Amino acid sequence: MLTICSIASGSNGNCYYIGNSREAILVDAGISARQTINRMKQQNLDPALVKAIFISHEHADHVCGARVLAKKLMVPVYATRRTFSAMYNNHKPLAPRFFEPGTEITVGSISIYPFLKNHDAAQPCSFRVSYNGIHTGVLTDIGVACERVISELARCHVLFLESNYDEKMLWEGRYPWHLKQRIASDHGHLSNDQAFDLVSRHSGKQLQMVFLSHLSAENNTPEKAMNRFSELRERYQIYLTSRYAPGEVVSITATAAAAANAAVLPPTQLKLEL
Ligand SMILES: [Zn+2]
Ligand SMILES: [Zn+2]
Repeated sequence: MLTICSIASGSNGNCYYIGNSREAILVDAGISARQTINRMKQQNLDPALVKAIFISHEHADHVCGARVLAKKLMVPVYATRRTFSAMYNNHKPLAPRFFEPGTEITVGSISIYPFLKNHDAAQPCSFRVSYNGIHTGVLTDIGVACERVISELARCHVLFLESNYDEKMLWEGRYPWHLKQRIASDHGHLSNDQAFDLVSRHSGKQLQMVFLSHLSAENNTPEKAMNRFSELRERYQIYLTSRYAPGEVVSITATAAAAANAAVLPPTQLKLEL
């Protein structure tokens, strides 16, 4: 069984928990260490299960708590060399471990596959986190979905998917023009429309849950993001995430994942498996 929870999600702090009964990993550590641990405890998630922290890119909303959190939990922080170099010195973990995009890393029974994405950072990565045939994608901070994002998304049972801004709110809002352009550019963030389009066009039949993530406080509302996905709510469980509090703790079993996988196998393969 894989247990999944958004500890924090939004433009001012991101941290995602993915684990089983023996171990867990965090993707990003963009709120304080104290807050991260408190929020895990609040949701009955044992911080002692966390065995590693993975950093997607150097922006403060993804890394500002990493150094202290790693020290408190006594776990390694994984980042690419270029991401590590681009971090502010006071965010840099003391003993980083480096990964290469495209090379899988294992932490106990969990495997983590990092891959490059389009975002205005040194070497930004998304992750597919897998355990026992269950795949979770952590897909935030993406200007435009590249082939890698699309093909990994298509394999996932669970998605943390960026739904950053509502087009109308962004363009009519009070942000300066250059910032609006940056957010909407190919190296900025995904809008509600882009996120909806990605799921409706590219998800696999095994997809079960979507956590709408990294919502902008200024250019989006939880209602607008959720409403955009209303027509997919019969097919998938759609959850909101929040910057202010941890989200629901959700579990998915290998049996459920396998049943969903079977639905997408070609008939010949299905016969062999039976
Ligand atoms: Zn971010
Ligand atoms: Zn970013």
